[in-house]
Amino acid sequence: MGTGDRVSDCRRVRAAGSQEHGRILAEEPIGPGEVVLRLGGALRSEPTQHSIQVGLHQHLDPGPAGGPAGPWGEHPWRYLNHGCEPNARVAGLDLVAVRPIASGEEVTFNYNATEWRLASPFTCWCGAPDCAGAISGFQDLSPAERERLRPLLSDHLLTHLPARPPSAADGTGA
Ligand SMILES: [Zn+2]
Repeated sequence: MGTGDRVSDCRRVRAAGSQEHGRILAEEPIGPGEVVLRLGGALRSEPTQHSIQVGLHQHLDPGPAGGPAGPWGEHPWRYLNHGCEPNARVAGLDLVAVRPIASGEEVTFNYNATEWRLASPFTCWCGAPDCAGAISGFQDLSPAERERLRPLLSDHLLTHLPARPPSAADGTGA
């Protein structure tokens, strides 16, 4: 990978793969709680395919790939993939590590922990034991599934959770 692959928002990661199926890789070891990258882009009121929801009606759109900034676009964080057991979470406009990330490891976050409704739902094949399968947004999760995401949730989704965990008698399924 050449220097053009470097993610402008943060020097700790780079984009890899193809413009159609890219991914974000750590360039160095990143410790839990450390900022992986800072999210930049244009705020919109509706989700787009690559946007991240950062508020009740606020969706940060990274814009297109390509252009004068290079093949990965101005905001290569658009290539952050979903993971049901991710190594990062979105806190405000920061992507923060939730466990140690090794150099060269792919950085992922759980889309259901930021998005109320995905503009482009998809089926996950991440292979995690608790893989959620169909990923369509927080709105479609059962109360138990929502509670399980609590440590990863963005502030605007945390407001949907009760102050205390619900009883284990939730039977709504998924
Ligand atoms: Zn999965």
